[in-house]
Amino acid sequence: MARTPLMAGNWKMNLNHIEAIALVQKLAYTFNTDDFSALEIAVIPPFTDIRSVQTLVDGDKIALKYGAQDLAKADKGAFTGEISGVMLAKLGCTFVIVGHSERRQFHGEDDQTVNLKVQAALRNGLTPIVCVGEGTEVRNAGDHVAFTLNQLKAALSGVAAGDVANLVVAYEPVWAIGTGEVATPANAQEVCGAIRNQIREVFGSAADQVRVLYGGSMKADNVAALMKEPDIDGGLVGGASLDPDEFVSVCRYRLHP
Ligand code: PEP
Repeated sequence: MARTPLMAGNWKMNLNHIEAIALVQKLAYTFNTDDFSALEIAVIPPFTDIRSVQTLVDGDKIALKYGAQDLAKADKGAFTGEISGVMLAKLGCTFVIVGHSERRQFHGEDDQTVNLKVQAALRNGLTPIVCVGEGTEVRNAGDHVAFTLNQLKAALSGVAAGDVANLVVAYEPVWAIGTGEVATPANAQEVCGAIRNQIREVFGSAADQVRVLYGGSMKADNVAALMKEPDIDGGLVGGASLDPDEFVSVCRYRLHP
């Protein structure tokens, strides 16, 4: 089954809402209808930018999707500082990143939290981009596939097969995030293929539909080789998504020689 590729730009804690407007305007001006029919393109800005991005995307009818970098486990209540899936859905978000390694590392998010956030996203009609991936020590020990599959199993625990089919998994080896050290296409395929196989074992034909992204120093000069791999359906792009020319070039991987 043909899966629509997805390139999602994770801006992390960069760009205020004025800068966000400038970047989205540049993207809207540069992408053409061929781009938007060849793949799904999304930006994932900080919470404070989302309303501005929504206004621009809706007002100018831009075929760009957008989402958030995190969400609360709960839908509302006394959770100071949190943002709920209800709020993100109201802002027209399509996607929400769940379990990014920076959330796991700096905010103590464990597998159970990630699972609750996946469920919060799904019950609010958001598509979770579920991040999994090993750190350096695990990779050096050769345990990267088992480690990543364990994270995935926990993240998708109790999720219905129909929901799994429509969500997105991002394989992001921690040693490749923001380091300039990209996984080789073969290394990335090894884990992305294992992710799809595990989804097939547990959720059956959802495996044909679920999109598996690679993330970790993806750039214009390495994207085409990664996208040739059969189980890589797109990218979660950090640093390279802050530069409009670079992000456009990443999204145009199909045109690369
Ligand atoms: C990320 O933050 O998800 C990421 C992959 O970052 P970078 O592309 O900068 O490595």
